[in-house]
Amino acid sequence: HVQVIAIDGPTASGKGTIAHRVAQQLGWHVLDSGALYRLTALACMQRNIPLDAVDQVADIASQLDVRFHELGVYLDGQDVGEAIRQEAVGNGASQVAALGPVRAALLERQRAFRQPQGLVADGRDMGTVVFPDAILKVFLVASAQARAERRYNQLIEKGFSANLLTLLHDLEARDARDMQRVNAPLFPADDALVLDSSDLSIDQTVAQVMAWYKG
Ligand code: C5P
Repeated sequence: HVQVIAIDGPTASGKGTIAHRVAQQLGWHVLDSGALYRLTALACMQRNIPLDAVDQVADIASQLDVRFHELGVYLDGQDVGEAIRQEAVGNGASQVAALGPVRAALLERQRAFRQPQGLVADGRDMGTVVFPDAILKVFLVASAQARAERRYNQLIEKGFSANLLTLLHDLEARDARDMQRVNAPLFPADDALVLDSSDLSIDQTVAQVMAWYKG
């Protein structure tokens, strides 16, 4: 029986980092479900398909030729690991993610990531929709201020300029949009454990998830 740990939560809550660390400790695989939405958006942008052309976007989602490697993410054989992290692609991802048929097209694809040795899946609906039978569901939150500060520090570290207040406003706007989205509202599963990482380090957050897993 394949074991899944679901880690869901809002934008910039640190899901990806925590999912990777937990997977590393357990020797499990990782599913970055947001990457699939980003890849769908990028593939559409490359083909000049409008992001609101529901049927065409859903076709693209169901036919994505995607490979995840240690060294990168490949779309049609091209490394797009950096391209999918661009802000424009992230915004595109959140547009295509609002389309029901696109979410349906990606559903089985996400389930196919289950591995015999276990899977840590991060996203928005891992615990509610994609892996409702996950053995542990974590809903990772952090205050908008804490998330904006983390993103600010990441950008500065990479040598980009950034404005904390702008980042904070963008995050709050994105939270509001994600909460109201009809096809995929963001809420914790009934059996999810909520983890507020506002005042926790990465190590402390990982330790809490591991403690819950070990029960
Ligand atoms: O997590 P990440 O920022 O890569 O996700 C990009 C976008 O994809 C999110 O803003 C969200 O709208 C969407 N998404 C989703 N369901 C998921 C993962 C991501 O709707 N499971």
